[in-house]
Amino acid sequence: MLARLDPPVYLAAVLFFILALKRMSRPATAKGGILWAGGAMIAATLAAFLTPGLGHLGLVLAAVAVGGAPAWILAGKVPMTDMPQMIAIYNGMGGGAAAAIAAIELLRSRWTPLSAPLSVLGGLIGTTSFSGSVIAFLKLQGWMRSRAVVYPLQKTGNVLVLASSLACAAVLLHAGDRSLVVPFLALGLLFGLLMTLPIGGGDMPVVISLYNALTGLAVAAEGFAVGNAAMGVSGILVGAAGTLLTLLMAKAMNRSLGDVLFGAFGAAEQASEVQGSLKPIELSDAAVALAYASRVVIVPGFGMAVAQAQHKVKDLMDAIEARGGSVKFAIHPVAGRMPGHMNVLLAEANVPYDRLFDRDEINSEFATTDVALVIGANDVVNPAAHRPGSPLAGMPILDVENAKTVIVLKRGQGKGFSGVENELFYRDNTRMLYGDAQDTVGKLVIEIKKV
Ligand code: NAP
Repeated sequence: MLARLDPPVYLAAVLFFILALKRMSRPATAKGGILWAGGAMIAATLAAFLTPGLGHLGLVLAAVAVGGAPAWILAGKVPMTDMPQMIAIYNGMGGGAAAAIAAIELLRSRWTPLSAPLSVLGGLIGTTSFSGSVIAFLKLQGWMRSRAVVYPLQKTGNVLVLASSLACAAVLLHAGDRSLVVPFLALGLLFGLLMTLPIGGGDMPVVISLYNALTGLAVAAEGFAVGNAAMGVSGILVGAAGTLLTLLMAKAMNRSLGDVLFGAFGAAEQASEVQGSLKPIELSDAAVALAYASRVVIVPGFGMAVAQAQHKVKDLMDAIEARGGSVKFAIHPVAGRMPGHMNVLLAEANVPYDRLFDRDEINSEFATTDVALVIGANDVVNPAAHRPGSPLAGMPILDVENAKTVIVLKRGQGKGFSGVENELFYRDNTRMLYGDAQDTVGKLVIEIKKV
């Protein structure tokens, strides 16, 4: 008898998934990690065709083409700023696929003692993740109002829907009544939808990360239900990585996961009036300050992403360095609207990885920095976070205020994501440079070259 080939391929694929995850933890090796994981996924998918007794080959290949071709084309076209919604929708597809497997397993005439409960678990998590991710996509894409949708007795209603779904699952498993499969899955879909509606667009990245973790768990449950070890283990890896990422994001925003899911952020009152005044600076004066600075730290934020200013920022770095100054970038973990947002944009503009520094690495250096240039960042540099009683109290921030001179580039008096006034802007050593980030940084480069 010939030995089966799929198990060793699955084992190798799982090992490569783990190594790939490790590589993804550093910007310099992340691209390689993604290629390794992709290669391992292709190998595992091909190995699935070696499973003994695999039927409906034509249908399987058609499904791969229908899913794979548009995904390949669309992923190539999505602009960097639309990445969060792309991740949301692809993640939702994973949850939906796990739920579809659950439906088939539960509608089968015979269950094993393990396959039925695992299918129920994967079905509930998969449907919730699918419909929740679709709402997240619609909000981020602007096809639906992104603000939180709230109505009376919302939480009670959500609990009732979840309880009804669990009751269906209990009767389904106990009495084997297959007519409950559809209502059970429909209630799961409704639960995901109702859970996500009250969450505002700004919190969506954390929610997407959470649904990503849930999709991983759903896939793991289905993988073990159908006896595919590679699917089970890779689902667990996604679930574990997604859970860690969700917790890290919530921690970096100084909010609990419960707060993100059930709290209305931005409603918090401003704790006290900010003292001082906003002091504007002329573009030419800002250029002189940057041209003569020995140490410059650039702090990018959401505004740089909105303005798509990353290429001009790279030109600015080159212009300052051509005059003999050193330039470093301070990257806050939740600057922008998705994890790694700034890293990705700056990498796109060919800013070398070794110029990007995490909060912990760079915070002590602000005291010896001549000019800290804040480009479209707000909450992540707000010293109010150090003051008990502020809505931002406890949020780890970049201590930009310690620099000799701080220049803040933004369009006007707009507040940050949290809606809290920024005390940094009123400090004696801070100057405000008003304008769109791309336009203003472009003009700064020209001025610096003239100095
Ligand atoms: P922010 O607090 O949202 O502030 C962005 C600033 O950019 C605003 O003050 C705005 O002021 C300015 N801006 C907007 N468009 C601009 C343009 N075209 N040119 C120049 N400036 C522009 O951004 P952040 O400091 O990056 O902080 C991120 C926030 O998002 C944090 O509160 C974080 O908790 C939250 N968040 C992040 C994630 C994540 O995964 N990264 C996820 C969820 C939530 P003007 O309107 O005056 O220009």
